[in-house]
Amino acid sequence: MSVTTINPANDQELRTYQPLTREEVFDAIGRADEAFSDWRQTSLEHRKELMLKVASELRAKTDEFAKLITTEMGKRISEARGEITFCAEIVEFYANGASEFLSDHEMEVEDAEAYIQYAPIGALMGVMPWNFPFYQVIRFAAPNIMAGNTVLVKHASIVAGCAERIEQLFRDSGLPEGVFTNLIIPSEFVDTIIADNRIAGASLTGSEKAGAAVAAQAGKNLKRSVLELGGNDPFIVLEDADLENAVAMAVKGRMVNTGQSCVASKRFIVVEDVAEEFVQAFKEQLAGMKLGDPMDEETDLGPLSSEDAAQRLDSQVQEAVNAGATVLLGGNRPERAGAWFNPTILTDISPGDPTFDQELFGPVATIYRVKDEEEAISLANNSSFGLGGSVYTKDIERAKRVAEQIDTGMVFINQPTNSQAELPFGGTKNSGYGRELSRLGILEFVNKKLIHHR
Ligand code: NAP
Repeated sequence: MSVTTINPANDQELRTYQPLTREEVFDAIGRADEAFSDWRQTSLEHRKELMLKVASELRAKTDEFAKLITTEMGKRISEARGEITFCAEIVEFYANGASEFLSDHEMEVEDAEAYIQYAPIGALMGVMPWNFPFYQVIRFAAPNIMAGNTVLVKHASIVAGCAERIEQLFRDSGLPEGVFTNLIIPSEFVDTIIADNRIAGASLTGSEKAGAAVAAQAGKNLKRSVLELGGNDPFIVLEDADLENAVAMAVKGRMVNTGQSCVASKRFIVVEDVAEEFVQAFKEQLAGMKLGDPMDEETDLGPLSSEDAAQRLDSQVQEAVNAGATVLLGGNRPERAGAWFNPTILTDISPGDPTFDQELFGPVATIYRVKDEEEAISLANNSSFGLGGSVYTKDIERAKRVAEQIDTGMVFINQPTNSQAELPFGGTKNSGYGRELSRLGILEFVNKKLIHHR
């Protein structure tokens, strides 16, 4: 079935893409596998040189790529430009750092010498989401290509144009054919690819459902996998927080990418003493956000990525209200063409309610009032997800104590969880396993090979 991309800001169709045939997919796997035989033998210096070209292309074409992102999935143009700059930073981080990250690890053993070599394992399958269409792909591709693996990517259908452009970016930068391959395929085909014996591992960023499908298939075929799934990040405001900062961070943390980030702050857990003040200020700021054309620099909030996404969020909000949630702000869609949703605040949600453990992927904040720090930690941990989170207090030692008790992969203090090239990114529980970015990210798909001699 062909795929047609749509501008979510105005519902206009952009372009139609034909999926690859079965034969074309198997040919592509063959090329990635063949390319691996040569690529694994290249020097790190050579890989670095080519990848630095990728980074400079990203910097040189920031505006072009950003416009494509905004057109296909509605991200505000300034955020889209930020995404491309961040991609260049990630590529540079791995291009410059790989020789250190992958250098042999000497071991202390008696009467012998031993070391661990970090060897590439082969062609990898990546399945990526639309919310950061360039970043998600680069986060997977850059470390693995520097490690000597080759990669195939099935990108989210709604950003087929970005997917195609990323492949061209690698080609234009001189990467040999087969080192990076974009596959336009329906998701049903992913299973067949993972099972192919020329594929060495799989990485998926996306929903729990898709993650479970990919993990099951990888497991069945005894292949390594990395899963970066959803989140329901707690944002804990303690009574000694700098409230002005907490409110500013709450707006930023919830509304990043129109709320469509796995590590967006989603559950605002506020200690009673400061709850009223926090809620009023937060509400005032969200109410003042200007919805508008994501290409316009003045816009505060763009559309969601697709009509499907807006409808899904709308039904989740209605479900919450039917179960007794109170709408403090918004709660509905504005009357205009496109995938829009008004900034929304919900309260009066309790454990057991349908919304309590759902990820709300859009500009909808849920607020929980708690008695004290202990109750805040307990509520934060009452989630099937475990991706990120943040804690707000002027007492840093206290913040660290609280952070250490939160069952997630990442906790930030006095700012929402965010992503940086040198910091490991990933979760626990239903948010997945494995890490991307940092040195840990380049060590996921390598054979940690022991070499021993007397
Ligand atoms: P999704 O439906 O899981 O889609 C993600 C990718 O998986 C797309 O390429 C999709 O293809 C593909 N896919 C869907 N079902 C599949 C299956 N059964 N087998 C193989 N591939 C399958 O997720 P989404 O709704 O687009 O993305 C939002 C989710 O991603 C949220 O839960 C968000 O929190 C999570 N996310 C996590 C991270 C992280 O780093 N932890 C980062 C960003 C987003 P099609 O587009 O063709 O359906």
